[in-house]
Amino acid sequence: MTKINTMEYMIENGEKFARKCTHCNKPTNQVYIVNDGDEYYCSDECLHENYTPKKWARMYENEVGYWTSFDDGGEVADDEVQFIKYGDQLIEL
Ligand SMILES: [Zn+2]
Repeated sequence: MTKINTMEYMIENGEKFARKCTHCNKPTNQVYIVNDGDEYYCSDECLHENYTPKKWARMYENEVGYWTSFDDGGEVADDEVQFIKYGDQLIEL
């Protein structure tokens, strides 16, 4: 018997994520943000595929780029959740 999960069930029981990496599409809650959300990067590797460390340092200085964590102290705030990961499915809310 195949069990079919409803969207509601998956959203309720899935893992909550605030953002998705622009480079590798991995959902993430610790993220580099470029231009207030034009681009997101989940890791140094993904970030530096697109910006050199030197370039990033300059962006950071100019407040064009920064790093943030959406799940400090536990879960992501409901109003920041944009993706739900359930098994290998990624649901965009
Ligand atoms: Zn990535």
